[in-house]
Amino acid sequence: MNPTIHHHGARHGVTGSCHQLFVEGDNSFLIDCGLFQGTETAPDGRAGADRLDIDFPIAGIGALVLTHVHIDHCGRLPWLLAAGFKGPILCSEPSARLLPTVLADAFQVGVSRDRAMVERYLDMVEPRIRALPYGKWHTIYRSAGATCRIRLQRAGHILGSAYVECELSGAAWPDKRRVIFSGDLGAPHAPLLPAPRPPWQADVLVLETTYGDRQHEDRRNRRKRLQAVVERALEDGGTVIIPAFSIGRTQELLYEFEDILHTERQRPGKHADKWAGLKIFLDSPLAQRFTELYRALQPFWDAEARARVRAGRQPLSYDQLVAIDTHERHLANVQRLARSREPAIVIAASGMCAGGRVVNYLKAMLGDPRHDVLFVGYQARGTPGHAIQTYGPRGGYVELDGERIDIRAGVHSMSGYSAHADQADLTRFVTRMRHLPGEVRLVHGEDEVRAAFARHLGAATAGKVRIVA
Ligand SMILES: [Zn+2]
Repeated sequence: MNPTIHHHGARHGVTGSCHQLFVEGDNSFLIDCGLFQGTETAPDGRAGADRLDIDFPIAGIGALVLTHVHIDHCGRLPWLLAAGFKGPILCSEPSARLLPTVLADAFQVGVSRDRAMVERYLDMVEPRIRALPYGKWHTIYRSAGATCRIRLQRAGHILGSAYVECELSGAAWPDKRRVIFSGDLGAPHAPLLPAPRPPWQADVLVLETTYGDRQHEDRRNRRKRLQAVVERALEDGGTVIIPAFSIGRTQELLYEFEDILHTERQRPGKHADKWAGLKIFLDSPLAQRFTELYRALQPFWDAEARARVRAGRQPLSYDQLVAIDTHERHLANVQRLARSREPAIVIAASGMCAGGRVVNYLKAMLGDPRHDVLFVGYQARGTPGHAIQTYGPRGGYVELDGERIDIRAGVHSMSGYSAHADQADLTRFVTRMRHLPGEVRLVHGEDEVRAAFARHLGAATAGKVRIVA
């Protein structure tokens, strides 16, 4: 008998992650409590924005375990607390450092901008956050009849990300049971983070399938391609705008650009002089705060990144990297770069151009062929980013703030920087386990993606694994 698991989100889509594992009677705990985003709906069909309240009984939920600090995995926390949840919030050490900033920002966006309210909220949440070291078992439930221990393992998705191993034992579980929740899994060769290692064994594996039907571009060469795209774009002295999310992708890009600048100084290539004078603007106060936290969390970087630090390099803070803080400086930078012939890279949120400072750059620059937009992340249907990506290359237009803007700037896309495992990575996560899991439950993927991945995984495991799509 396997334990009961309820999926309260990310069952048919990729947002709103929330799973409940029952240990004994109604004693249970939650893995993630994320927001539904975009047009995705809850199990009862209500759409994103009205799907905030917790619609399941919370009595008996002893703890919340967070796999990582992306908002679609932790963003419904205020509503969980409002529903009366009193337990601890367990997560990895880096996640515990990042979480207050993430939650404060989400609270300001979704609940209230009132500073005193934000402070009160954080005062309530922070004492409940418990940081667990990676790789160590931690008992979260013990009674006369049952014990449940959890262990966090690196997931390689963003800093602090973890997959969660849960072990149930005691009289209620005479055959010990192990359930694993993958959270979001990263890809091998991601900058800054060690790749996830497959688990040893599991009776049930709850596995994300965001990219279960896709292969990413070869990651080994993506730094070269990033460099080539930027060099071509800079030939006519314009700006390269990179829309990026504040956490994860931004730091990976800064890390890659430091490496290009460093290499061009050591072994100058054709465009070394251009790189030598190039400014990289990080125009997002939130991304800047996360970058500072990333810097403070160096012990959790991968071996390559730590070796660069030992060699005297500063992969996330360097002379040519300029952070823009105030709104006045932001507006001035937009005006200056739009008019001057000064080549520059601008990294600004939001990643899908649906808001944030990147919109001002796009409004000022999309009409000019000297400038370029480089997409390094997934652009969801219905977002301005998706429109620019789709219609830009054919000379179309996009609507920003209700204004129609013709796209004459260059538009480029790279998929190699996805923070998610692709079909091959997900398959290896299962087939490289020491013992194949008894059951794999696919979550966190569109319906047709889960179906495609179920077929692929079924073939790869020769029918030896029960797959629930
Ligand atoms: Zn994520």
